[in-house]
Amino acid sequence: MAIATINPATGETVREFEALDQQGVEDRVARAAAAFAGYRLTTVEQRVGWLRAAADVLDADTDDVAALMTTEMGKTLSAAKAEVGKCAAALRYYAEQGPGFLQPRPADADAVGAREAYVTYQPLGVVLAVMPWNFPLWQAMRFAAPALVAGNVGLLKHASNVPQTALYLEELFRKAGFPDDVFQTLLVGSGAIEAVLRDDRVVAATLTGSAPAGRSVASIAGDELKPTVLELGGSDPFVVMPSADLETAAQVAVTARCQNNGQSCIAAKRFLVHADVAEEFTRLFADGLAALRVGDPMDQDTQVGPLATESGREDVEEYVRDAVEKGATVVTGGRRGEGAGWYYQPTLLTGVTPRMRVYDEEVFGPVAVLFTVSGLDEAIDIANSHPYGLGSNIWTEDEDERARFVRDVQSGMVFVNGMVTSYPELPFGGVKQSGYGRELTDLGLHAFMNAKTVWIG
Ligand code: NAP
Repeated sequence: MAIATINPATGETVREFEALDQQGVEDRVARAAAAFAGYRLTTVEQRVGWLRAAADVLDADTDDVAALMTTEMGKTLSAAKAEVGKCAAALRYYAEQGPGFLQPRPADADAVGAREAYVTYQPLGVVLAVMPWNFPLWQAMRFAAPALVAGNVGLLKHASNVPQTALYLEELFRKAGFPDDVFQTLLVGSGAIEAVLRDDRVVAATLTGSAPAGRSVASIAGDELKPTVLELGGSDPFVVMPSADLETAAQVAVTARCQNNGQSCIAAKRFLVHADVAEEFTRLFADGLAALRVGDPMDQDTQVGPLATESGREDVEEYVRDAVEKGATVVTGGRRGEGAGWYYQPTLLTGVTPRMRVYDEEVFGPVAVLFTVSGLDEAIDIANSHPYGLGSNIWTEDEDERARFVRDVQSGMVFVNGMVTSYPELPFGGVKQSGYGRELTDLGLHAFMNAKTVWIG
């Protein structure tokens, strides 16, 4: 895949980049390793200062970097601005909370016959971050903010279609005053990852992206005995029970499916609706999807922009074609938008069966599938039949139903009567083929630290 900015709203190639050659990669890995030697000895107060400065730089750069993201991957300008704000908030969260997370943890010295015993948290070193294009700033920040406050050094291999956002991230940390080379972008294709991952100077990796990419990185890292965190795909269930506030649930369902032009790992993708309210919910949901304004992502009235890549739209079309051929019903949408740009209409499918690919794969576009279920047990069975287990959603006022869903649904996150969202204050991650490990909070920070036991006699 070429490293290039191609505007999804027009299909035009805006700018192309030469990938780093082997020597270029070597130089950057060497510089990262050299930077770690000094960065690990900086104080947490210094690092907190740089994090706060980075948040201020982001605030000042909001309009420019938001427009850049919209040009590179098609999210609406308003969503892009919100993403920049969220990144600044995450930097400030780790500036605030990081020092506490890094405090040594005392142990019971008497029990182990010591004068003193504790756990001290130390950074691991150079961490490779392989990131996707869908939240091009936020996904990288989820890794960078905790890693940098912890004293680690980052090497970012971003998706090939967001090179300018990737370069901006490097510049952001430089402008904030971080020491040279503690955060660098490697402009390389995915074929160059193996050599970087096998390099002794690179000690760990995190990947956010598809299951095949995760499998590849995890197997190489496994061979090298290096730790990894994997944030992979999702096909979140959204369960609606009879006691739910249907209007609110349907409104949130529209946002949950179509946020980021339908390209979010934690988008609700499968809607499991109790038979007693299925007709009413389907009508409200379909009306909401049909009313969305699809169009130029730079236009402030637009709610759904184009898909990020031409092949991404072809994939979505193929999923819908396959489902319809095998008997699914298109309630609304089901076709591409008019004219240039990779637009696809918000779509609702019913009558989906396990023979269809949409049943147990992930559709990365604004296509919802709705199942009518006889009760909570059937909803949980269908929810858990999917290989992914990232987020999950239930709408109910019944306490017993909530408790059963929280206990039995196979997912890393459960949101009740609200949309699955990532917050620095909550751990983020999945189970099954959605990956392993957690980002954000103290868990995300400690994922790339040596919890070193100290015993003093
Ligand atoms: P992708 O194709 O897996 O790409 C993600 C990153 O991995 C890119 O930097 C890509 O580089 C690289 N990559 C691709 N194939 C690779 C391989 N075989 N070995 C190593 N690296 C490889 O995913 P995407 O299409 O950009 O993103 C969509 C997927 O990401 C969806 O499945 C979505 O659910 C998932 N996602 C998960 C989360 C989460 O937090 N769980 C968040 C966002 C997205 P190139 O661009 O150079 O190919």
